[in-house]
Amino acid sequence: MGKQRWCVIVIQLSPAPAPSQRAALQLPLANDGGGSRSSSSESSPQHHTYPSRPRHMLNLPTPQYSLVKSVENAEIDQKLQEIMKQTGYLKIDGQRYPAEVSDLISEGEIGSGTCGQVFKVRFKKTGHVIAVKQMRRTGNKDENKRILMDLDVVLKSHDCPYIIQCYGAIVTNTDVFIAMELMGTCAEKLKKRIQGPIPERILGKMTVAIVSALLYLKEKHGVIHRDVKPSNILLDNKGQIKLCDFGISGRLVDSKAKTRSAGCAAYMAPERIDPPDPSKPDYDIRADVWSLGISLVELATGQFPYKNCKTDFEVLTKVLQEDPPSLPLSMDFSLDFQSFVKDCLTKDHRKRPKYHKLLEHSFIRRYEVLVVDVAGWFQAVMERTESPRSSQCYSQHQLHSLFSR
Ligand code: ADP
Repeated sequence: MGKQRWCVIVIQLSPAPAPSQRAALQLPLANDGGGSRSSSSESSPQHHTYPSRPRHMLNLPTPQYSLVKSVENAEIDQKLQEIMKQTGYLKIDGQRYPAEVSDLISEGEIGSGTCGQVFKVRFKKTGHVIAVKQMRRTGNKDENKRILMDLDVVLKSHDCPYIIQCYGAIVTNTDVFIAMELMGTCAEKLKKRIQGPIPERILGKMTVAIVSALLYLKEKHGVIHRDVKPSNILLDNKGQIKLCDFGISGRLVDSKAKTRSAGCAAYMAPERIDPPDPSKPDYDIRADVWSLGISLVELATGQFPYKNCKTDFEVLTKVLQEDPPSLPLSMDFSLDFQSFVKDCLTKDHRKRPKYHKLLEHSFIRRYEVLVVDVAGWFQAVMERTESPRSSQCYSQHQLHSLFSR
């Protein structure tokens, strides 16, 4: 690869842009009392640890598109108004209950991500056990935007069985609490529990669920997820498989993403790393198809395909320079599965299939109809394996301060 291309990569990996370049978002609520956000995003469950990995998430510079940005800002404002109308109550099983933070009794932390922590919570008024994602309102516009985007997408995706269901939200001066259906755990943590490959039949069902969820997002809401990875795929002991975390999802304009936003380097498609015109991103949903392919290789082999890389930069360089990962022939995967993964990991995004084409693939067709006991498998794994050690080091403090307000 020539020098010029290296230069392009370096520019794209440079730190966050100047504030003036970012999307403006102001939460019209009282001052944030929460101070700056804790280091949760840095200590989020890692899918694979590089010896000295600089950052899990990349904040790619946002290009200056004043028009796109002002439209985006207006949309964010509108979103906020809509969401504010829906806060302060939870709607569970068709019933609407007024709710405030003191109605939420924490039963422990179950995860953490880029925007905050997720807790298992008992809703005092009804006894329902649910998941609550707490996001601090730091005043950081990018984070606020993620909070709103996540809420907006889950609230409107109530009719998709492959997307995590939201019961509502509670907004305080310092935090946003998003109440969701409680799932068992994510595919990332399952992989860590098993310390080996996840069976093809489970991944077959997972593929059907995730492709369906992504297609739903695109067709129904014109949204691209942009952060498809094992930690955003949730499973439970009923055998359900659902997509979560829409914090960095983006609206599609003419089926293309017009903003860059953040993303997880490890799963990022080549066309997002090295776009033809870096000042004008216009990748489409096929970027998520690539991320799904990387996730499938990781879960099917039990190993992240770029695991030997020391930095995100090294991963990105390999994604651009090397042949795409594939399922090893030695592991006896079906030809269908191998071919499906190969299609997802087509380096040239113009040749990579979109969802409708993927849904016609024999791998998906097979798993759409095949009966697989995902529930039994999930329960057996949870019973026979130990929970991976949490990377959180302040969860006790979090628990005390959070729910005793
Ligand atoms: P963030 O938006 O901050 O990145 P996520 O939504 O990705 O947070 O959640 C972080 C982790 O919390 C997930 O990887 C998963 O392990 C756990 N989690 C999230 N939502 C749920 C849920 N509804 N039920 C069970 N676990 C969940």
